[in-house]
Amino acid sequence: MTYKLIDGKAISNSIKIEIKESVTDLIREHSIKPGLTVILVGNDPASQVYVRNKRRSAIETGMFSTVVNLPGSTSKEELLSRIVTLNHDDNCHGILVQLPLPDHLDENEILASIDPEKDVDGLHPKNIGLLSMGSPRFVPATPFGIKEMLMRSNNDPKGKHVVILGRSNIVGKPLSNLLSLKTQGGDATVTLCHSRTKNLEAITQSADVLVAAIGIPEFITYEMVSDGVVVIDVGVNRVEDKTRERGYRLTGDIAFEEVSQKASAITPVPGGVGPMTIAMLLHNTLDAAYRKI
Ligand code: NAP
Repeated sequence: MTYKLIDGKAISNSIKIEIKESVTDLIREHSIKPGLTVILVGNDPASQVYVRNKRRSAIETGMFSTVVNLPGSTSKEELLSRIVTLNHDDNCHGILVQLPLPDHLDENEILASIDPEKDVDGLHPKNIGLLSMGSPRFVPATPFGIKEMLMRSNNDPKGKHVVILGRSNIVGKPLSNLLSLKTQGGDATVTLCHSRTKNLEAITQSADVLVAAIGIPEFITYEMVSDGVVVIDVGVNRVEDKTRERGYRLTGDIAFEEVSQKASAITPVPGGVGPMTIAMLLHNTLDAAYRKI
């Protein structure tokens, strides 16, 4: 089967162009420059890269963006006080706390302290609740990006059996809610799988659309999928590769070479879901700023 590559980089670039145009309009017509603040606690190298990319992309689309760098030893009180200050800052429309946080900080407590109207990561309990109820405000960026990729590559999930592997709060669970909404881009029949799921292979073989978000390199193999499946690979895994100067390469949760022989469409890693996540974060920030008109 010849597959079609779902190019997340190209799709995200066209979304960023649309966002840039809207940012220009917002500034011209309402003198509002969307502002995104990212809080990074500690010095995890991967998180530093993600934060840098988010800020750079925000600035590229004409937004105002700052990064608050805090030491790994930052106390809960200090972090909460920074968030309260940002909650009251009219120039800041979106607040994102980069995850994971150091162990001594309770992620749920910190996320719940963000003003829900500035929660552009969509992880505040109120925004999660709105999504579950079918009236989403800010949808978490990775699931939102997956929905956009499906729609913009002519793979509408409506009426399809979507199988999701992984039930995290940032990907699997919100994606299952999003794709089963009674709305455009939704209306899928969703099966959410995890590490305790029995007969996983029988379930993945029945998927029209398969989303893998588990963090295990090349877990999904040829035998686990059926002909014509649409595959979305969320996983980002470092595997040792001595042929590369840096000593590793990035791979997804899908064995790309073999699964692409059966897939009708498939996302690469890198260049698939990752760039979409940033684009949808910017989309949410723009939306947060528009809500201030
Ligand atoms: P996570 O918190 O790492 O949790 C992993 C999930 O996979 C859990 O729900 C776990 O089940 C499930 N799982 C583990 N082994 C499994 C198996 N053998 N069969 C079926 N399910 C299994 O999940 P995450 O934070 O969503 O991250 C998943 C991957 O996506 C990681 O590689 C991460 O780096 C990547 N990611 C990428 C982006 C992006 O923008 N590209 C964004 C977010 C995450 P249990 O719940 O039963 O433990």
